[in-house]
Amino acid sequence: MLEKAHEKGKTPKRLFLGLLLAVALLLLGTTFYLVIFVKDPRIFFSRKILLGIIVPALFFTLLFLCGLLAIVLTIMRKRTFPGLRWLIEKTLLSLYPFVLQIGRLLHIAQEKIERSFIEVNNQMAMASATRVQVKAGELLLLFPHCLQNDQCPYKITRRVENCRRCGKCQMGDILRISSSRGLRVEVVTGGTMARQAVRKHKPRAIIAVACERDLTSGMLDSFPLPVIGIINERPYGPCFNTRLDLKALEKAINLLLN
Ligand code: SF4
Repeated sequence: MLEKAHEKGKTPKRLFLGLLLAVALLLLGTTFYLVIFVKDPRIFFSRKILLGIIVPALFFTLLFLCGLLAIVLTIMRKRTFPGLRWLIEKTLLSLYPFVLQIGRLLHIAQEKIERSFIEVNNQMAMASATRVQVKAGELLLLFPHCLQNDQCPYKITRRVENCRRCGKCQMGDILRISSSRGLRVEVVTGGTMARQAVRKHKPRAIIAVACERDLTSGMLDSFPLPVIGIINERPYGPCFNTRLDLKALEKAINLLLN
């Protein structure tokens, strides 16, 4: 029987945003604790050393809180603000590992946090798409090779046109959608090949299909390039004859091209 291993609902954005806020507040709390500590007359550390830690810590904590505010503002207003992209990038790249750690401490599954992050990133990508004005030739579609039927004898990772559109997997439908819109398509075996594809095509926006972990690392790698992530369906377990929601793909294409 077909195992519905991937029937999960949308994870709300507030999970990732809440954890991000928790990390920033923890940093702020630690900094204030150091401020109180430095005033204590009994301390045996050099005050200069402590101040050398407190001042940058306070600066970065405030920077991250502003970054979090910028993310929320971008999502709520559905538009990007010049100058805030740098702030958002630094906040996400610096705090993401801590968000995972806090999630682990709170016994929240990593996959759930990743799904929430993908949701946040998708909203930001859509917000920047309204400003970027992507043309068809500037949009890259990235797919994992596990979408291909495992019995298929044709190698499509180097040349997607090798697909005979036989209907045994969704590659035929994907090519029908992409060729009708003049979009570039790459089927990749992992992060290295995905990065090569991005370097080769130099897109202005990407739609990527993958599992939570690959999508998250790809999005963080590509920031600030707008990447809309579609989590694949894994009816037979991971990395084997996976599928995707074609309607979600078409919706993402329409959003980016309009
Ligand atoms: S649709 Fe293309 S990739 Fe999929 S099994 Fe048929 S020939 Fe292979």
